[in-house]
Amino acid sequence: DHGLSEADPEVSSIIKKEKERQFKSLELIASENFTSRAVMQAVGSCLTNKYSEGLPGKRYYGGNEYIDELEILCQKRALAAFHLDEKKWGINVQPLSGSPANFEVYTAILNPHDRIMGLDLPHGGHLSHGFMTPKRRVSGTSIYFESMPYRLDESTGLVDYDMLEKTATLFRPRLIIAGASAYPRDFDYPRMRKIADAVGAFLMMDMAHISGLVAASVVANHFEYCDIVTTTTHKSLRGPRGGMIFFKKDPVLGVDLESAINNAVFPGLQGGPHNHTIGGLAVCLKHARSPEFKAYQNQVVSNCRALANRLVELGYTVVSGGTDNHLVLVDLRPLGIDGARVKKILDMASITLNKNSVPGDKSALVPGGIRIGSPAMTTRGFKEKEFIAIGDFIHEGVQITIDAKGLVSGSSKLQEFLKFAVSSDFLLTDKVS
Ligand code: PLP
Repeated sequence: DHGLSEADPEVSSIIKKEKERQFKSLELIASENFTSRAVMQAVGSCLTNKYSEGLPGKRYYGGNEYIDELEILCQKRALAAFHLDEKKWGINVQPLSGSPANFEVYTAILNPHDRIMGLDLPHGGHLSHGFMTPKRRVSGTSIYFESMPYRLDESTGLVDYDMLEKTATLFRPRLIIAGASAYPRDFDYPRMRKIADAVGAFLMMDMAHISGLVAASVVANHFEYCDIVTTTTHKSLRGPRGGMIFFKKDPVLGVDLESAINNAVFPGLQGGPHNHTIGGLAVCLKHARSPEFKAYQNQVVSNCRALANRLVELGYTVVSGGTDNHLVLVDLRPLGIDGARVKKILDMASITLNKNSVPGDKSALVPGGIRIGSPAMTTRGFKEKEFIAIGDFIHEGVQITIDAKGLVSGSSKLQEFLKFAVSSDFLLTDKVS
């Protein structure tokens, strides 16, 4: 058996370049992280060779005695990591990622064209929560179900629960979804539970972004209010790329969630589970119960606060006025620039973050803000001091974007290029690195 560099120098060299890029850049994408060597070893193991359709003890393939042992271990660790009682909560660890996990829940508990309400994408929600534009149903969720997104109060940057309640009373959704991709605050789970109960809806939480923070109990816990909880495993939880679905064991609204969800995963939407991912996930979930993990998640929040405070000190408008979790949303519109251009300029300086829409934005392509996350650089050992420096670097990038002339002394060619880049649509394409 050849090593990768011998068997395929081309792929090996691409991986090497990507590793170097990851090593050298300031990684501030809120949904990314650096997983551990132990997780990577499990993911790169012989577990990838095995087919195991079905659940432990009920497989369609032979030779699954060790895979059964692994999946049961992973399930137990997942419930323990989130402090759940095995008698009350069940779990499926087979979803291939976050979007499939969400769609599996929808097909488990809804009929086609049933109504759902999730946070609107331009206000921080995820595509898989039912995004649509006035012209187009964009995600599978909005194509196969009727979606009426709820939104933020634009003056506070917080979820407008009064409006959610009013809309839900009229729209009568079968499912309400909490959770987001770009929301710096906790949701009001008791209020959402009340609204769901009043209209006879299931309440699901998609904790993909904050699952590590939830496991470490550094943000509000939603489990006691929700019927179903989905998550990715590779964001703040710092595991391999994958998904999980937690469900209440007692029937909810007359539905046996356990069998409905397990059947939706397989045979409904998936075939064989990715056992190498389940192996990596089990490793990550063991770590999630350690004191180091709790200290890491505390540091993630503390670093993010330090960054938000620094940006506010520098005069920036931060959506909702701050953060309670791992991300900050900066509204750049008061400065007369947009997130797309700033993102591109920072990319050139190996600072990686997202352009992001902010409440009140007109265009999703040229959004008015940036989303900055702390999990990845906290894994790399950064503390508050370094995150304050990151705030200063971002400020520099923003200044450069505002005033291309101020960038460099020296090469006038570069100056000219930057002037052109900043003033034209050039920075809005993703073709240039
Ligand atoms: N849910 C939320 C809240 C997310 O932010 C994301 C991804 O960013 C997903 C689901 C989807 O995860 P995946 O990209 O693994 O499908």
